[in-house]
Amino acid sequence: MEETRSLYGGTPVGLVPTLGFLHEGHVALLEAAREECGTVVMSVFVNPLQFNDAADLERYPRNLERDVELAREAGVDMVFAPATDQMYPLPVETVVSVPLLSERMEGPHRPGHFSGMATVVTKLLAGLRPDRAYFGKKDAQQLAIIRRLGIDLSLPTVIVPRPTIREVDGLALSSRNVFLSPAQREAALALSRGLMATADAAEGGERDVRALERLVWSMMDGAPGVDPEYAEMATLRDVAELEHLDRDSFLAVAARVGPVRLIDNVHFEVGRDGIVADRGIPLERPSVLYSQDPQSAEGDNDAARS
Ligand code: AMP
Repeated sequence: MEETRSLYGGTPVGLVPTLGFLHEGHVALLEAAREECGTVVMSVFVNPLQFNDAADLERYPRNLERDVELAREAGVDMVFAPATDQMYPLPVETVVSVPLLSERMEGPHRPGHFSGMATVVTKLLAGLRPDRAYFGKKDAQQLAIIRRLGIDLSLPTVIVPRPTIREVDGLALSSRNVFLSPAQREAALALSRGLMATADAAEGGERDVRALERLVWSMMDGAPGVDPEYAEMATLRDVAELEHLDRDSFLAVAARVGPVRLIDNVHFEVGRDGIVADRGIPLERPSVLYSQDPQSAEGDNDAARS
């Protein structure tokens, strides 16, 4: 634990922002916060501002009751689940955007997504004033943007990155995985398998970024039912292009599989002894995601509360 005292007195307050419909990826963030903080707050807010696709917002899986239960089991002290008009009492005029880091990868595919995300994260950090806030490396570009806005806006919260949690067979955990049929789930493994192949190649000495991108792209492109959108490497700090794998970076992919758009990545750290790939952490048993039918989830936070 880096700090024992909060900026505001007492023990540190840790925040884990989520869109809800929790899985073990979220729980791992809650557990890390529980280890390091005296008070743990989880926010659940399906932020309309960051959904560029109205249908995706409409059908995003929700179940606040179950989220609260899982949060309680993980030792969370407070769940902050505001209604949309509590979060945005007036039409939003002030937005946060980090254009340079939003230029590539998810940016062009999801117009408005990152400024919506950056705006709500800034509001959560400014409003709840946590000492530490926990985010998954699964959303690598998002994490880079959040780190940058924290620096640019002089926000005092320490941003804590945590590894990607994967299902037993390697598929990165995502709330949207519940919408995959068994055949689509099998096809979706092309993403993680492709990324693991690049991790092996990089650790084996491959430094040509284009070759690594081509490797994962070809594994996704060759999989029936997988429609790849991009396979790109970027520097960790600036999400900038690079030719040679000689800096801390990540290789991110996105693909459509059936009704779902999936993203995943591996991180590469340059150490004294060469490249070390962070492949994420696989679960040892099936995810809690599948113990709940998302169809039974009703409405949004507003509806769940009424
Ligand atoms: P979401 O509810 O999907 O917006 O995610 C909330 C937080 O959980 C974000 O910081 C995500 O990066 C993180 N997260 C989502 N999926 C995973 C995962 N599979 N492993 C680790 N963190 C994750």
